[in-house]
Amino acid sequence: MRVFIAMLSHETNTFSTLPTGRAQFETREFRYGCQMLEAYKSTGTCLGGMIAGAAARSLTLLPSLAASASPAGRVTKEFYEDAKARICADLEAAGRVSGVLLDLHGAMVTEGCDDGEGDLLRAVRDVVGPDVPIGVTLDFHANVTADMVRRATLLHGYKTYPHVDMAERGREAAERLADVLTRGLRPAVAFRQPRLLPPIASQLTARGPMRRLYDLADEMERDPRVITVSVFAGFPLADIHDAGLSIYVATHGDAALAEQLADRLESVAWEHRREFVHQAVPVRDAVARALALAERPVVLADIADNTGGGAAGDGTEILRELLRVQAPSATVACLWDAEAAAACTRAGVGATLTIDVGGKIDDRHGAPVTMTGRVRAVTDGTFMHRGPMFRGLPGHLGATAVLEQGGVKVILISNRWQTLDPEMIRAAGIDPLAERILVVKSTIHYRAAFEPIAAHIIEVDAPGLSSSNLSHFDFHRIRRPIFPLDDL
Ligand SMILES: [Zn+2]
Repeated sequence: MRVFIAMLSHETNTFSTLPTGRAQFETREFRYGCQMLEAYKSTGTCLGGMIAGAAARSLTLLPSLAASASPAGRVTKEFYEDAKARICADLEAAGRVSGVLLDLHGAMVTEGCDDGEGDLLRAVRDVVGPDVPIGVTLDFHANVTADMVRRATLLHGYKTYPHVDMAERGREAAERLADVLTRGLRPAVAFRQPRLLPPIASQLTARGPMRRLYDLADEMERDPRVITVSVFAGFPLADIHDAGLSIYVATHGDAALAEQLADRLESVAWEHRREFVHQAVPVRDAVARALALAERPVVLADIADNTGGGAAGDGTEILRELLRVQAPSATVACLWDAEAAAACTRAGVGATLTIDVGGKIDDRHGAPVTMTGRVRAVTDGTFMHRGPMFRGLPGHLGATAVLEQGGVKVILISNRWQTLDPEMIRAAGIDPLAERILVVKSTIHYRAAFEPIAAHIIEVDAPGLSSSNLSHFDFHRIRRPIFPLDDL
């Protein structure tokens, strides 16, 4: 059986002033045809899982586009329309296909369209008609819409944050699609959108309210009448009607059961909504607390400057404080400033220079910091992911330099990248285990690879576009009232 496969993935922070166009996709991921299958085979990604699942069930994959970009502002109309046209043209050229597998994010907002995936799924559905099954994987942060639910045959959301089950979900999507094709699987689906907008920092699945919801969802999935249950925490930094938590239940043709289970999850999410309110530690307190601890390394999580949540990645407030107190043995990983990285590269290893670092993208991540330091290392920014996320996939930080002032080192990178793997630090010539303080620009994902090596973790309340203090943002389009923006 011939199954069409494509990936188009972006998490859009509508508060970001950085548009996401072709160049941003080409920097991160832009592949085509068989190149996709070669690059993703055996990787810990949705496509990796789909490829494995398809092989196990003898599905022949017809690869089209695989594109993703670092989270930032709206995807440009030009790029999105091009990508959609390319996917649809490939699908038409493929002739009769048995099914479609799509690896999507679920929180893509484009210029002119608040529901990117709903629009793409509508276009794909128009090409294949009502009877060809479409299986879709969606990120845990998807802001799922009724349009997505209606156009897809089955949605499979990641069940973990940090996202360590992408390959598993991809495999599940391929296998359930095969079940629809060969075993007469006929899903009945229920969907709920409670008035709940959980901040990112309280969405982790190891404990807390999302753990409670997934314990319940896991229990529901053990019922043989149930196909799949997803609780999407949603992406709150999107000022669109459908942002927020949602619940998706698919059963074997039993609509009443799907509705009943969705109701139960919705009421538990609502009852425990106050557990989603998040409190981080002010910058000065966090640095002082870290310096008072004897064990190393202490991870200071710069949760509000997470490029994975659409923040700039050039926030300076924690760096500024480390320099102010002359912290011994601290590394800021990694700060996006191509200009500063280039200046250090030109100066060369061992040179001393004075430059402005960070704070250059907008006025929401602190002002630039003037550093006078020694260039400690210069690299091309290539590293290999070895943590639980993206294991086996290379990363490309672009021209990278380490600037050191006293005991404070800052890793300056040219491509925006979330700090989610200690390999990013090692590749810059720094031993993360030897540092007293590691600043990582990430909200939750760093936990997968840093929790095992961190003596302590402190979440810092610095400014930034991925802040968990949602009162910092002006929402206009989201449905109201919604908790915690409104006190419900
Ligand atoms: Zn996510």
